[in-house]
Amino acid sequence: TSGRVFTDGVPLVVEDVPRRPAVDRAAVLADPGFGRHFTDSMFVARYRAGEGWVDARLTAYAPLQLDPSAAALHYAQSIFEGLKAYAQPDGSVATFRPEANAARFARGARRLAMPPVPEQAFLTAVDALVDADRDWVPTGPDQTLYLRPYQLAVEPFLGVRPAHEYLFVVIASPAGAYFPRGVHPVSVYLSEDYIRAAPGGTGDVKCAGNYAASLLAQEQAIAAGCDQVVWLDAVEKKYVEEMGGMNLFFVLGSGDDAELVTPELTGTLLPGITRDSLITVARELGHTVTERKFTVEEWRAGVADGTVTETFACGTAAVITPVGSVTARTGDFVVGNGEPGPLTMRLREHLLDVQHGRVADPHGWLHRV
Ligand code: PMP
Repeated sequence: TSGRVFTDGVPLVVEDVPRRPAVDRAAVLADPGFGRHFTDSMFVARYRAGEGWVDARLTAYAPLQLDPSAAALHYAQSIFEGLKAYAQPDGSVATFRPEANAARFARGARRLAMPPVPEQAFLTAVDALVDADRDWVPTGPDQTLYLRPYQLAVEPFLGVRPAHEYLFVVIASPAGAYFPRGVHPVSVYLSEDYIRAAPGGTGDVKCAGNYAASLLAQEQAIAAGCDQVVWLDAVEKKYVEEMGGMNLFFVLGSGDDAELVTPELTGTLLPGITRDSLITVARELGHTVTERKFTVEEWRAGVADGTVTETFACGTAAVITPVGSVTARTGDFVVGNGEPGPLTMRLREHLLDVQHGRVADPHGWLHRV
């Protein structure tokens, strides 16, 4: 064993994982893309009712063996997280606010009636994987190592009830710069046929089923010539909630007095860690940030009369993506002049600078591995 513990009384076993001779790591790191290539190792722990978490190990990346009746395959009792490790200028590697992912993961587990992974154990697992596969962290401009922790019900049983057995897995995938040829605004499609989340549902956790249910609306957005779907509230279809896998911000006014509005966490949108970080950063830069409900009509009228000057989406994968145009049954509109707005770009640069260790980190958001 490694001498490290996963959680109370459960050792973290670190196997000696060989480098895969068939994988040309240098070639992958030169052009990683997103989500296609995986590192040599993975972390796996198992949970059994009555025993708790057992058999925590860092092992070779390989297919999982699941019983065909494993509960998650039928009833989607399954959650995931997404966070990144960043090569730092001093040669070290750091993850960004992993404690926040650990807390959201545990909250998601409770919502799906699963035993939560203790938050410290989540951090231990992520650290162990990043440490073992440090040489997979790309060092090119804005490149990162994307980390994907997930938990799924694996008990072989077809009854509909919380399972008695789970896997907690962490895998890692090198990721290229999201906008290798410069930042470009996306076009969005307001989903008026389909909804993402309803009050009392699972919209505020990262459960697998939310994403399965979003795919058709995303296809509809593409068919309408747009890049992304924007979700409205399920009840009145009046309030803007979020965009695909990202939260939204609206910029009101301009210059130093520009204010930001972001949809409040009503329980039907995901509390993004990038969203939370940007609220802090924007306030530090002197901008007022308000979390409140924001209607499609306020967006449309604001763009028309010049009150709403910029709109952007934010999340771990792309950090910040400007929104350039909106397609809706009730009429299309263009935000600003179709170019990324100044506050959008300022916040984007600032957050990327913190994550890549190019400026001070006053909140201790970077977690050295
Ligand atoms: N909304 C949804 C639906 C998401 O899947 C994500 C990605 N986790 C986000 C927002 C952004 O969250 P974060 O900033 O934590 O990546």
